[in-house]
Amino acid sequence: MTLPDECGQFGSYGGQYLPDQLKQVMDDISTAYEEIRLDPQFQQELSDLQRHYVGRPSPLYFCRRLTEQLGGAEIYLKREDLNHTGAHKINHCLGEALLAKKMGKTKILAETGAGQHGVALSAACALVGIECEIHMGAIDIAKQAPNVTRMKVMGARVVSVERGTKTLKDAVDSAFEEYLRDPQNFFYAIGSVVGPHPFPKMVRDFQQVVGEEAREQFLERCHCLPDTIIACVGGGSNAIGLFTAFLDDDSVEIVGVEPAGRGLDTPDHAATLTLGQPGVLHGMRCYLLQDQAGEPLPVYSIASGLDYPGVGPQHSYLKDIGRVNYQTASDDECLEAFVTLSRTEGIIPALESAHAVAYAIRIAPELAGKKLLINLSGRGDKDIDFVAERLKL
Ligand SMILES: *Cc1c(COP(=O)(O)O)cnc(C)c1O
Repeated sequence: MTLPDECGQFGSYGGQYLPDQLKQVMDDISTAYEEIRLDPQFQQELSDLQRHYVGRPSPLYFCRRLTEQLGGAEIYLKREDLNHTGAHKINHCLGEALLAKKMGKTKILAETGAGQHGVALSAACALVGIECEIHMGAIDIAKQAPNVTRMKVMGARVVSVERGTKTLKDAVDSAFEEYLRDPQNFFYAIGSVVGPHPFPKMVRDFQQVVGEEAREQFLERCHCLPDTIIACVGGGSNAIGLFTAFLDDDSVEIVGVEPAGRGLDTPDHAATLTLGQPGVLHGMRCYLLQDQAGEPLPVYSIASGLDYPGVGPQHSYLKDIGRVNYQTASDDECLEAFVTLSRTEGIIPALESAHAVAYAIRIAPELAGKKLLINLSGRGDKDIDFVAERLKL
């Protein structure tokens, strides 16, 4: 796995579509990152925190009752939902906060939609001891009160964005404007394997522990590799985290599941790799849901962590070379999977992760004798009120 190249390219994707001044800042981050990546002391510090703070390694779990109910393939989960703060996001937030601190940055900035990235980053910043400022749309702040409170309790400053749609899109603009006031001293912590080089590479590297652990755990437990590995794809960080360790295993089928929302024949989905075309967004070239002028289209998913019109450049490349099979699951399938996993295993998945579970539930009955591994990227406590109301539970 030598990708990306020195310019941050995965084939024709990735790169740095930025003004020269910001390219220099990104190159400085890249240089600092390459230094710490090879520094045994940093690696030791990171792996100690992964173990004693995040709670790694996360378990590999066999779903006995779900497997019996489906009557086909065996279903295994990589339990990223059991990480501190409840999802895989802490893996890269911790890495980014440590890097920013080592670089002597004075403040970490980010936007957040549903607040998951904001919470994970607030925790990492509190741990590392660096100022944290989270920009969030006023509407999202009203909708996500518990996450806003979590961030504040952990010492982050939450900036309410009152302009435009008052949601994620304007929060991105607001956070980026603040970043541009002093990019030398501020650090913009990107929340997935997206954005300009080196972020798609760096966030992948911080996430690849997921697949490395899972591969080892699977070999130890089953004495073979899984036949198919499955993860949901928003920006693509939990998926690439699982996939990376298996890319060279030709026998392993790899599936990324995008949100089909209310249907691929409606505008209400976020199936970027399935229906998008290459374009430029947030400093990178990637598949993009775009209009005639190349502007990103409004996107939608029942899982707010998946509604992004772009996708990581490495996923764009893996689609083109055919190594990863990108599929979709709808809102309704996701809700059904959410309830099924909760009631057969007592595990409430995040609505995002439930897309991967839904795909596994769809294919498992036809695959007796095979083994499926799903990345359960996060826990669904944040989603229970919404689901209970929607399904009248
Ligand atoms: C944010 C989030 C995602 C989507 O982000 P990726 O970068 O695609 O992984 C998926 N699952 C959970 C639980 C999330 O919080």
